[in-house]
Amino acid sequence: MPQVPAVPSKLPAGGVSIFAVMTRLANEVGAINLSQGFPDFDTSPELIDSVARFMREGHNQYAPMPGVLALREALSLKIERLYGRRYDPVNEITITTGSTEGLFATITALVHPGDEVLLFQPAYDSYTPAVTLSGGTPVYATLRYPDYRIDWDEVKRKVSSRTRAIVINSPHNPTGMIWTADDFRELARVLQNTDAIVIGDEVYEHILFDGARHESLARYPEIAERAVVISSFAKTYTTTGWKVGYCAAPSAITAEIQGVHQWITFAVNTPIQMAYADAVRRDHECRDVTAFYQTRRDTFLSLTQGSRFRPLRCEGTFFQMFDYSEITREPDSEFAIRLTRDYGVAAIPISPFLYEGEKAGPVLRFCFAKRDETLQKAAERLVRV
Ligand code: PMP
Ligand code: GLN
Repeated sequence: MPQVPAVPSKLPAGGVSIFAVMTRLANEVGAINLSQGFPDFDTSPELIDSVARFMREGHNQYAPMPGVLALREALSLKIERLYGRRYDPVNEITITTGSTEGLFATITALVHPGDEVLLFQPAYDSYTPAVTLSGGTPVYATLRYPDYRIDWDEVKRKVSSRTRAIVINSPHNPTGMIWTADDFRELARVLQNTDAIVIGDEVYEHILFDGARHESLARYPEIAERAVVISSFAKTYTTTGWKVGYCAAPSAITAEIQGVHQWITFAVNTPIQMAYADAVRRDHECRDVTAFYQTRRDTFLSLTQGSRFRPLRCEGTFFQMFDYSEITREPDSEFAIRLTRDYGVAAIPISPFLYEGEKAGPVLRFCFAKRDETLQKAAERLVRV
């Protein structure tokens, strides 16, 4: 019998993403799935019609490698109007297969073996593998339960001449914290006398609550000149399955990102880019998206009020963290599984986003990008726990 040769893993810490694990368990036991972040309501029929129209009109072949120019132009205008920095649509914007590819292409382009990359933990789960595959070393600064604010003294201690990049994420998944203007001032100070590039994951840029303003990297010239802003259409347009995102960065950085992007995927599907170009041109601010999610969050909070789950502060994203210390002392991963099996509500534990033995608090993350009926049913079950 021929033997399958050994395949030494390039990601020995390995494992399957917690989103895949919890969604599979939710489906297996028929639980309400508030774990993986995706909406259960419909995408706009106009947007779907628009994609279909572009397909019928024959826009079905390869897009240009950096993305459809009309979309890059629309994004350039949007970013300038909202955040005040102009990115050249030809040389400074790249359309990617979701922000996941944007993050991966950026990290791969920037990080050389031996470089350090500062990540804030809990860290969205795609950052660490991307750094590791490039031969870089992730260095973690911790956002601590229950406030999850940035400890700037810790950041200062951990940034050095070896730091090639700092990845920031605001609004932050999973905690829902947002970066403030003061945080950016601190960051600008930390960056002095370093060559670090900042990578800003801003996929929830339109999902902020209570009138908060999105502090994009692009608002801060001294940071933006050495930064990559990464966002996605997935959350804003209820299209997580379409997988289109983008990176905006000064041309010298963009050239490196596109150098990698061309070998990952070459180009992103054409008709959806054409439809997004129209949608972005029509509405830069997306205030209805912000208002819509404010209602989702408020509804979920009021429905769960009688429960023993205590909501933590949530300033942005479509995730609510709940403290469950009144219910049990179980570790978060065990409780998440029991909650799914015994009560029929799936949530995400925080420990998979933590590294170097950092312990998670007694919290779970629930996605409230769901219809009223779904939230209602889930809340009825949570109140019984
Ligand atoms: N970054 C964060 C913080 C996310 O929550 C997500 C997932 N939704 C992504 C990146 C990936 O987004 P996309 O679906 O555009 O690849
Ligand atoms: N970003 C989504 C979440 O946080 C999941 C994306 C994915 O499944 N990779 O739940």
